[in-house]
Amino acid sequence: LNYRQTHFITSAPDIRHLPMDKGVEIAFAGRSNAGKSSALNRLTDQKSLARTSKTPGRTQLINMFEVRTGCNLIDLPGYGYAQVPLEMKQKWQAALGEYLQKRECLQGLVVLMDIRHPMKDLDQQMIYWAVESRLPVLVLLTKADKLKSGARKAQLLKIREAALAFGGDVEVECFSALKGIGVDQVRRKLDVWFAP
Ligand code: GDP
Repeated sequence: LNYRQTHFITSAPDIRHLPMDKGVEIAFAGRSNAGKSSALNRLTDQKSLARTSKTPGRTQLINMFEVRTGCNLIDLPGYGYAQVPLEMKQKWQAALGEYLQKRECLQGLVVLMDIRHPMKDLDQQMIYWAVESRLPVLVLLTKADKLKSGARKAQLLKIREAALAFGGDVEVECFSALKGIGVDQVRRKLDVWFAP
């Protein structure tokens, strides 16, 4: 697919307000500041498809982008803000879990984590829900340019090892929006998910 043609379709205040469950959908999730917006912009070769560096704690919308008819990318709000009240966090997590488990058109989940701080509780929870729903997962270790090549490889192997414990289809790759690391691998994976 030509990811450069990706364009904004709609925003939804929550998962229940997303458009009809049809076509093929791939969701992007990650802690706030993990580099999700930068990754989406890099993958689609666009400067500001997904906005970067939002105000922490602000209510965020779910954004839907279309690569081409019937092929959509879902940008889920970043999780893990310390400032968000517990009750809101719990509600949001429940909704997220429901989305991962019930959305029929969802064919894959990309979980982005800073290569220096991977596999936090909520990251693991996301993977767990996806695996439980037999949804394939691509873990992207973002900002890979922050580590030297030796440390980067060691971290990749360590997280691949950790990913085995989930028992499902969980792949792990390094990614850098800044340097373009992993961009081709991600596009190839999305192609497979979009056209099984
Ligand atoms: P989001 O909250 O997950 O959407 O994260 P952003 O895309 O807004 O990125 C958060 C911060 O990390 C910003 O300051 C980005 O400039 C920085 N960042 C994102 N991707 C990279 C990367 O590949 N390399 C480096 N060095 N910094 C990055």
